Amino acid sequence: MAYQVYFQTLGCKVNSYETAAIGKLLAEKGFEETSDAANADVYVINTCAVTGEADRKSRQMIRRAKRIAPNAVVVAMGCHTQMCRDEEGADIVVGTDDRPSLIPLLLEKLNMRGEVSDEDLDAGTRFFEYGSVPYQENTRAVVKIEDGCNNFCTYCIIPYARGRVRSRSREAVLSEISGMAEKGYREFVVTGIHLCSFEKELGRDSIALGELLDQIAAIKGVERIRLGSLEPSCMTPELILMLKNNPAICPHFHLSLQSGSDTVLKRMNRKYDTDLFRRVVADLKSAFPNASFTTDMICGFPGETDEEHKESCAFAEEIGFTHIHVFPFSPREGTKAWDMDGQVDGNRKSVRTAELREISDRMETARAESFIGKEVEVLVERILEDGSFEGYCREYVRVIATSDEKVQPGDILTGMITSSSEFDVLGSGFSKKTVNS
Ligand code: SF4
Repeated sequence: MAYQVYFQTLGCKVNSYETAAIGKLLAEKGFEETSDAANADVYVINTCAVTGEADRKSRQMIRRAKRIAPNAVVVAMGCHTQMCRDEEGADIVVGTDDRPSLIPLLLEKLNMRGEVSDEDLDAGTRFFEYGSVPYQENTRAVVKIEDGCNNFCTYCIIPYARGRVRSRSREAVLSEISGMAEKGYREFVVTGIHLCSFEKELGRDSIALGELLDQIAAIKGVERIRLGSLEPSCMTPELILMLKNNPAICPHFHLSLQSGSDTVLKRMNRKYDTDLFRRVVADLKSAFPNASFTTDMICGFPGETDEEHKESCAFAEEIGFTHIHVFPFSPREGTKAWDMDGQVDGNRKSVRTAELREISDRMETARAESFIGKEVEVLVERILEDGSFEGYCREYVRVIATSDEKVQPGDILTGMITSSSEFDVLGSGFSKKTVNS
C-alpha cells in the first residue's frame, strides 16, 4: 500500500502553493495524501515565521505531530524552520533554501533509497522547480515566479528566512502555464514573495514582470491573469502602461500599504510614502477605471501614536480599499523592530485593529453595492445545490448568479448584478462568453 502523507500548512499563499507542490512531487513517487493525521506515514508541517505568533504555532504543530501520529516520519519545512533548525519533534527539518533535499531525505528515511533520482539530488537549482500546482476547482492556478526579498523592512523576517531574490526561468513559467491552459485552466494567479523583483538578480527592473505577463497572456486559453501582492514603489508608469495594454490582466491589485502614516512607513523602512501610493492608485485607476484595491496593514507598530493611527485610517478610507488584511504588530526576534522603543501595548493594538477592520468591512460592503446595475464577467468555480453558480468577477468580487444555459466550472459568463449581500454580489440571466483562442 502506498505511503500516506498528511499536510498542515501555516501562513501565506506562497506556502499553500509550496505544500500543494510538495504533495504533487510526492504523488509522483507513489505517495497518497490523507486527511487521517493519526495514521499517516508522513506528517508534513509547512511552517511560517511572519509573526511571533506564527513562530509559536509552528513550534506547537511540530511538537504535536509526534503525539498525533507516533509512527509517522515528521517533516518540518518552511520559513520558521529556516530560522530555527533544531526543532524538537521533527525527523526531517528543511528550511527554504534546502527544500530540494526534502524528497531524497524522506525517501532515505523510508528506506526507499532506490527511488532517489538524479533530479531529486539536484539541490543546486537556483529556483526550486515544483512544476504546476492545481489550485481552484480546475479553473484557477497559482504560479510562483520568484522567491526571496532584498528589502529588509524593519518588521519582516522574510529576507532572513527566504534569502535574496531568485527568479524562476521564463521557460519554466510559460511551459507550466501552457500545460495548465491546455487542461482547461483559465485564470492564473502570478505570485512570489516580492513579485516586482522578478529577474532583479539579472539587473532588470519591474518591466521584466510586464514582459513576462505579456508572454503569459499570449498563451492560448489564458483568459485572466491576477497578480499577487505588489510593492507600490515598483509600480512605475511604464509598468502600469504595460498592464493596461495586456487584455488578460484583471483589474484587481493587492498593493501592500502596511501603514497610511508617513512617519510610521519611515520607521518600517518601506520604500514609498503616501504620496507615491496615491500616485500609483491614481495611475491604476486611470488605466483600469473599475479597479479594486486590497491591501495589508499593521496596527500598533512601535512608536505608533493615536495621531499616526488616525492618519493611517484616514488614508485607508481615502484610497477606498475593497478589503484590508489587518494585523496587530507582532515583534519578530531577529528584526530591527523587535526591540524598537515605544512598543504599543496589546490592548491598544487590539482596539486599533478592530477600528481598521470595521473600516475595511464598511468599504467592502459599499464596494459590493456599487456593482448593482453593472455588467460583470464571471469565471465559474462551483455549481451550488440550488443550481446557481459561484465565481469571481475580474475585479475579484464573489458573484453568485443564475443562467438559463447549462453551466459548468471553467465557463465564463457575463451578466448584470441585481443586488448584493454583505461582500458578495448577486445576479441572474447570465450568458456564456466565447473563450479566446
Ligand atoms: S518587501 Fe518588506 S515586508 Fe515584503 S517580504 Fe520584503 S522585507 Fe518583507
